[in-house]
Amino acid sequence: MRRPSGLFVYTFSMKKLLFSFALLLLLQQLSAQTMQAQHTAAPNKLLPVLWHQHAAEYRALCYQAFNLAELRLASIKVKKHKRPLAIITDIDETALDNSYSEAQSIKTNAEYNPANWKNWTSKAAATPLPGAVAFFQKAKQMGFHVFYISNRDTSEVSATLKNLQTYQFPDATAEHLLFLSNESSKETRRQKVAEQYDIVMLLGDNLNDFAKVFEKKSIADRFAETDAVQAEWGKKFIVLPNAIYGEWENALIQYKRGLNNAQKDSAYKAQLKGY
Ligand SMILES: [Mg+2]
Repeated sequence: MRRPSGLFVYTFSMKKLLFSFALLLLLQQLSAQTMQAQHTAAPNKLLPVLWHQHAAEYRALCYQAFNLAELRLASIKVKKHKRPLAIITDIDETALDNSYSEAQSIKTNAEYNPANWKNWTSKAAATPLPGAVAFFQKAKQMGFHVFYISNRDTSEVSATLKNLQTYQFPDATAEHLLFLSNESSKETRRQKVAEQYDIVMLLGDNLNDFAKVFEKKSIADRFAETDAVQAEWGKKFIVLPNAIYGEWENALIQYKRGLNNAQKDSAYKAQLKGY
């Protein structure tokens, strides 16, 4: 068998080398594009997080919600009720501010994931929403029992209690914390409270904090259900502002799971209402 000449071997190797180099460049480019696609969601959170942390309007909205809630409670005659009265509150972005966790994700270009979230809550470092502690303490003084219904995991109870106790939230005991165990819906936990108490007020930043009827609904149906109980907003239902995240985001993508950030971005943009 004839051996290839030295020139042939050299040319062949050069071709191979160039091909490998081109392939490497292509792979690098693809990987960069994938990385970019994975992180396109982060800029979407930038302004909402800054609004949450730096807009005085956000603070004013929190004060407005708690001031109104206090007025509503003042109009209830506690002693005339046969059963004890309760108010139910969500925790995240209703009692405690977790925008630090979101800000850290943007700063480090990290995606939200349960491990990052747990790392944050384990620090018990969330701060109260403006006006929250004063409101809940006042409610307690007025004779209302406070229940914290949160979709934080049951493994996060002790760190959350520590966080709430640090700021002297009332009823910050394990008996008053109903965390996520086997279902994300809060309905069963609300019913559990209702077995012994009359629930006179619910506070939350997400429609799912108020009633089952809002769960897993399309955007149009969320609007319709919100309109159907128009008189309850600012009365029995007290809403806190949260532009950073919420069920409304899932409604925008029809509750589809597994979409990458680029796919989410295009779904979001497709729903912009221009003129
Ligand atoms: Mg919340």
